[in-house]
Amino acid sequence: MNDFGHVLWFTGLSGAGKTTTAERVKARLLESGRRVELLDGDELRGTICKGLGFTREDRLENVKRIVYVAGLLSKHGVDVLVSAITPYREMREYARRTLPGYVEIYVECPLEECERRDVKGLYAKARRGEVRHFTGISDPYEIPHRPDVTIGTLTGTLDENAETVLAHIGIRAGAARA
Ligand code: ADP
Repeated sequence: MNDFGHVLWFTGLSGAGKTTTAERVKARLLESGRRVELLDGDELRGTICKGLGFTREDRLENVKRIVYVAGLLSKHGVDVLVSAITPYREMREYARRTLPGYVEIYVECPLEECERRDVKGLYAKARRGEVRHFTGISDPYEIPHRPDVTIGTLTGTLDENAETVLAHIGIRAGAARA
């Protein structure tokens, strides 16, 4: 794939384990000598995606901006990890069409478990009606039909899942620093 970096796009419900898994994969890629950047959807909403809400249109615009930055980085050989819910198939198809190194990773976790974890306390707020357009509660999540990789965070450990992702891009378990 020429000199393009991989774009490892983690999609799934809030609290499914996208960022946790992406951070582990990032650490392993750095160990193997790759140049890596992690684009966290929550963080970007405070910077280049500031002001965007959670309607379908705003979510699409949000993804377009992330795709743009991911494209700039990956064309210079940087591996990009994206952690963002990306709930609509249309958005994921846009990312796939646009990014040469796109790898869709479905981070699977039942809603009940995400809600039990409630990492940021947002599910409780969404249930109380204090947060609108909350994915899984009051906004849709369209399950990927054909992700490149599926990892389950209730069924698999963090280590196992990170290795599954790395194996998909040809990085062996415990590969030595380049
Ligand atoms: P997301 O980025 O999808 O919103 P986070 O990674 O922020 O989710 O949070 C996931 C939570 O689930 C963390 O508190 C993490 O410790 C926990 N967790 C439990 N088991 C796993 C697993 N196998 N993989 C990833 N996260 C897990």
